[in-house]
Amino acid sequence: MTRRKLVAGNWKMNGDRAALAELVAIAAAGAGAVDVAIAVPATLIAPAVALVPGFAIGGEDVHPAETGAHTGCLSAALLKEAGASFCIVGHSERRADCYETDAEVKAKAEALHRHAMRAILCVGETLAQRDAGQAEAVVTGQIAASLPEGAAADWLSIAYEPVWAIGTGRTPTVADVAAMHGAIRAKLRALIGAEADAMRILYGGSVTAENAAALLHAGDVDGALVGGASLTAAKFVPIVAAA
Ligand code: PGA
Repeated sequence: MTRRKLVAGNWKMNGDRAALAELVAIAAAGAGAVDVAIAVPATLIAPAVALVPGFAIGGEDVHPAETGAHTGCLSAALLKEAGASFCIVGHSERRADCYETDAEVKAKAEALHRHAMRAILCVGETLAQRDAGQAEAVVTGQIAASLPEGAAADWLSIAYEPVWAIGTGRTPTVADVAAMHGAIRAKLRALIGAEADAMRILYGGSVTAENAAALLHAGDVDGALVGGASLTAAKFVPIVAAA
């Protein structure tokens, strides 16, 4: 099964309208044979879409409800109206900062699917969990508990992001990444059968132009979710090229 690679950026709480010039440069560089997408702060979605129409712009979080008394939150419909075609759910920073549970992450992904949006569902272990030999159990447990109803490769991707590798400059070895992605694929097969073989599993955590080629060509790695190095075209475009 050949899966088209996806290199997605995650700007987190970075960037402003001036920084959208980087997005224009990223879009202008082209993507070759891979899919490229960037998640930006919600206030930048509409101006980003206006600057690079046709480029996949996404949100970084979504509320699972359709409407209602949820001050400060954004529904899938609102993100879509702003121009987002996809959204990240379950990023470890939100699981930690906002106490998001697997059940909430699942509901968020399902809300996106109801609105025909794509989702990138993040999972990953902490350093303490890895040191305790629990990494695979933690990650496959997150998959089992947060995989949305109707999970299918045409709208859902998984991102494996070890918490200890995010923004730290540290990455697992290529062999460790391949082993974890294989374990995730096996868990997905148990849950959704053959559809698992079409689903993209991205690696995220300190991906750079230097390590991208090795990480992105490891077994069962179908792309990357890139934080810091997605903020400038100079750092991001070589990662896309390496994919
Ligand atoms: P990083 O972040 O590339 O800056 O490590 C990745 C992520 O959190 O998605």
